[in-house]
Amino acid sequence: MNLLIFGPQGCGKGTQADKLSEKHNLVHVETGYIFRKIGEKDTPLGKKIKEINEKKEMIPDDIMVDILKSELEKIPAEKGLIIDSAPRLTSQIEIIEKMLANLGRSVDKAISITLPREESIDRISKRYICPACNKQFVLGENIQSKNDPCPECGGPIRQRLDDTPDGITKRLNTFQEVTVPVIEHYRQREMLIEVDGRKRVDEVFEDINSKL
Ligand SMILES: [Zn+2]
Repeated sequence: MNLLIFGPQGCGKGTQADKLSEKHNLVHVETGYIFRKIGEKDTPLGKKIKEINEKKEMIPDDIMVDILKSELEKIPAEKGLIIDSAPRLTSQIEIIEKMLANLGRSVDKAISITLPREESIDRISKRYICPACNKQFVLGENIQSKNDPCPECGGPIRQRLDDTPDGITKRLNTFQEVTVPVIEHYRQREMLIEVDGRKRVDEVFEDINSKL
């Protein structure tokens, strides 16, 4: 089974993707994380990605697909995929599906987790990450203070640099402009599973599974 998962910042798609991976033997392909990691490398591609990330621009389709392809090639054929936030814009739908087809895969369902804008901003402003293990934590839920160590590995936690009100608004606008049309595309093809991200984590998970 190969799934796509979409949703605005703070909707909990990372958590749901992890839970789905475990239940259905999938590999969670987190495109944002892959690009950030490559951007930290001292290679020509790393430098280019870093520059694009710093300017908060979109990674060009051809580079994006090349990177994604080299990641997906490493995944054994018996494992399914859950791809987080790709295709990110409508121009990528066809090239990504073609690339998947070349790897003997096709998209089965696209999951969209919805969340109202105010809720998204509220959640992200409470979000902390551990740069070492890439886990996310929520102030008042799994951490009580921003000075707490990472509950997973004990390392220092921090907010993402672009998790400012301005940064969040800009990302939500981009999501609305470029990614919502991708979600609508999958709705038209009757491949969309839409769930309400305001519910509790276990309820959202149940909703997704009941529709899969
Ligand atoms: Zn950690």
